[in-house]
Amino acid sequence: MSDESYEALRPDTLAERLGAIDAIRKRVGDPASWQVREVGDGNLNLVFIIDGAAGSVIVKQALPYVRLVGEAWPLPLRRAFFEYNALVRQAARDPGAVPELFHFDEAQAMVVMEFLSPHVILRKSLMEGRRHPDLGAVLGRFCARTLFRGSDLSMKTAQRKADLALFAGNVELCDITENLVFSDPYFAAEMNHHTPGLDPIVARLRADIDLKIAAQHMKAAFANNAETLLHGDLHTGSVMVSDSETRVIDPEFATYGPMGFDIGMLIANFLMAYYAQPGHAEAPGARADYQEWILSVVDEIWATFSDEFTRLWRSERTGILYQASLFEDQGHGFGAEQARIERLAAIWRDTLGFCGIEMHRRTLSLAHIAEYDQIADEASRAACEARGLVLGRALAVGRANFNGMAEVLGLARQIN
Ligand code: ADP
Ligand code: MG
Ligand code: MG
Ligand code: MG
Repeated sequence: MSDESYEALRPDTLAERLGAIDAIRKRVGDPASWQVREVGDGNLNLVFIIDGAAGSVIVKQALPYVRLVGEAWPLPLRRAFFEYNALVRQAARDPGAVPELFHFDEAQAMVVMEFLSPHVILRKSLMEGRRHPDLGAVLGRFCARTLFRGSDLSMKTAQRKADLALFAGNVELCDITENLVFSDPYFAAEMNHHTPGLDPIVARLRADIDLKIAAQHMKAAFANNAETLLHGDLHTGSVMVSDSETRVIDPEFATYGPMGFDIGMLIANFLMAYYAQPGHAEAPGARADYQEWILSVVDEIWATFSDEFTRLWRSERTGILYQASLFEDQGHGFGAEQARIERLAAIWRDTLGFCGIEMHRRTLSLAHIAEYDQIADEASRAACEARGLVLGRALAVGRANFNGMAEVLGLARQIN
């Protein structure tokens, strides 16, 4: 079907249109047995489950516009191409972390992949107060492996430059991030919305020159520092979990950018889930232990990231930077260690800066998070959100002043 011109899929025509594709038939069985459901709950794309006699697969198809907004906001189909290419690289760099890929059709902007089941979106699980073993370790490792192995620390120069050029084409999705994340929260942008009780703090943030400069410094880092291939949209709605497994989905925002962007966005979403807990508690105080568990996951993400980054630095530094010929081979192994510590310190500062900005944009800009949105009582919602805004400001502006995650988590607990 790749010769045909693009047409959005529908549940009632899907078997007819995709029934001849071997890769799908092999996993699902005869198209006569297919049951198709649309399950997409994301902001941008169509997602279908095909259930058949032999099994199930996911079909994800880009729309020529933003699903959340409609046809008034066109968005190119080629984001499916970037998502597919990012998934291929993530699967190679951290095997098992992303859904297995079965088929890609560029003209139809369509990826067919493994149906993760009984997995649910992590955001939902965090609202229900469920715990998942190894969550922080799996996510920290995913960050370390994909970010290290997509960078000049690991890749050969020609391959890395080819990938940099390829993903530089993901212009429109970068443009969304550049505006929605780094600028819109700090002025009265058209698509912004926020809980009315936040008006006073929003006015304060928009008048906060140091904060606006910090946000633009982080935007400059995002736009200018092509350090590695990012997932680009690594929030808790891009993670699926079961009782025993954690997987990452939805890298259509993939672009070359600074390592701290993925880690900071991820951590921000846990910290917002932390502040949202009172709004989901069965009784006042009932989520106190669970809140501590969320903070322990944040701690584990950074600890695992830095351990795994260190392991890879010592064992896989095969790219164009900090070569062993300059250090270990001359008996200066300590020099490579010093460089590693300095690089990790820079990633740490970036992480906190991006984390703080993400906490603002998910509360004030276009795309909010379910953890906050689903708090029905407006006053309690505003109270939870305001704490996140205060922490976000402290992290973004003070990103150079935190000596480790314990200080960050201590501050998070104090804002009440
Ligand atoms: P969008 O880019 O529109 O945000 P996502 O890739 O996040 O789309 O998918 C939207 C939803 O579809 C997810 O929240 C999840 O519920 C479901 N989904 C996506 N991929 C899978 C998968 N491989 N297995 C199971 N469910 C999936
Ligand atoms: Mg998504
Ligand atoms: Mg989404
Ligand atoms: Mg997406």
